[in-house]
Amino acid sequence: MNADRPQHILVVEDEAKLARLLADYLAAAGYTAHCLADGREVVPWVRAHAPDLILLDLMLPGRDGLELCREIRGFSRVPIVMATARVEEIDRLLGLELGADDYICKPYSPREVVARVKAVLRRTASTPEAAKEASDRLALDEAGYRVRAGEREAELTAVEFHLFAALYGAPGRIFSRGQLMDRIYADQRVVSDRTIDSHIKKLRRKLSELLPGQEVIHSVYGAGYRYEPGRGGES
Ligand code: CA
Repeated sequence: MNADRPQHILVVEDEAKLARLLADYLAAAGYTAHCLADGREVVPWVRAHAPDLILLDLMLPGRDGLELCREIRGFSRVPIVMATARVEEIDRLLGLELGADDYICKPYSPREVVARVKAVLRRTASTPEAAKEASDRLALDEAGYRVRAGEREAELTAVEFHLFAALYGAPGRIFSRGQLMDRIYADQRVVSDRTIDSHIKKLRRKLSELLPGQEVIHSVYGAGYRYEPGRGGES
């Protein structure tokens, strides 16, 4: 895949010692790792950070691995390696067709996990076109008012963030300036169309640093703005 950055692995494991051990082995193998222990934290984290692979334990506090795997497959093709404590469980999991890329049985050695991670990443390695597409995709980090594309990120002001979140949440839809004002000013303060335009201008400048040469927020003459990723330079 992208050779100039380490691949990022999300380790979802509620045994803290095991999670740390896995993270250490993954780091030694040249990956970066982030650990989560609670099932409820997984989907928001994956949406915000788009990891390269997820190592997903089946039994977790909060939400179980089955449910998480299904939900993640609803919006992402990220490789998933599921870990379960029972070898006989694997047949059942295969039968459920969850969309996981591999299954590994506990207890495992961290070395074995790293070997599986490598093998799955090799097998699912994307074409240069797909890799480019992934780094061209914007992801919103709602907690931090940031937007990311691959490893690049931009900090937005609260107004820019709400403005972009509205557009981003409905690709292709045209928002009038009035509709955008409603989204960003809950108190209905009177602001002019020019205020929206000037926020859009600043937002575009930040996004163009993330996606050089691409315009993702398009002006629609006489109507407003729409978000449409993956199109050329016209605006
Ligand atoms: Ca567990």
